[in-house]
Amino acid sequence: MVIETRSPEETFRLGVQLGEKAYPGQVFTLTGDLGVGKTVFTQGLARGLGIEEPVNSPTFTIVQVYEGGRLPFYHFDVYRIGDVEEMDEVGFEDYIYGEGVSLIEWANLIGEILPEKRTEILIEKDLEQGFDYRKITVEERS
Ligand code: ADP
Ligand code: MG
Repeated sequence: MVIETRSPEETFRLGVQLGEKAYPGQVFTLTGDLGVGKTVFTQGLARGLGIEEPVNSPTFTIVQVYEGGRLPFYHFDVYRIGDVEEMDEVGFEDYIYGEGVSLIEWANLIGEILPEKRTEILIEKDLEQGFDYRKITVEERS
């Protein structure tokens, strides 16, 4: 599925829609360059799960846990990861095979340890379409 958005609000709303439909154990992987809108999408997804706390990228920790919504939400940002063993140390597998919803920003950096069943989201710019244009590809993998 390909969705085109032309404002941060539209990307946020796509996140809301997917968050409303998210199920226990669902894993979202997010890939795209810096500043493309991964966190905007994540904030929408959190809202769709009913989380009212503000969600930002976890800068100093790899994972941030939000318990206030319909399901627990595990937000990973692995941009600063040195090697995949750091993911073991934070209990990555317990989260992704747990009952909450996991979302991993920069998932391409830990491709080798991602679960096979996942919802992949790729966000891309296309400057010919304008500065705020984003092409968002959603693909179910199993
Ligand atoms: P990332 O997490 O991928 O590094 P952010 O979500 O933090 O990126 O930032 C995306 C930036 O791009 C924000 O400043 C946002 O306002 C802007 N932006 C402009 N157009 C869009 C769009 N269509 N979708 C998402 N963000 C957009
Ligand atoms: Mg981000």
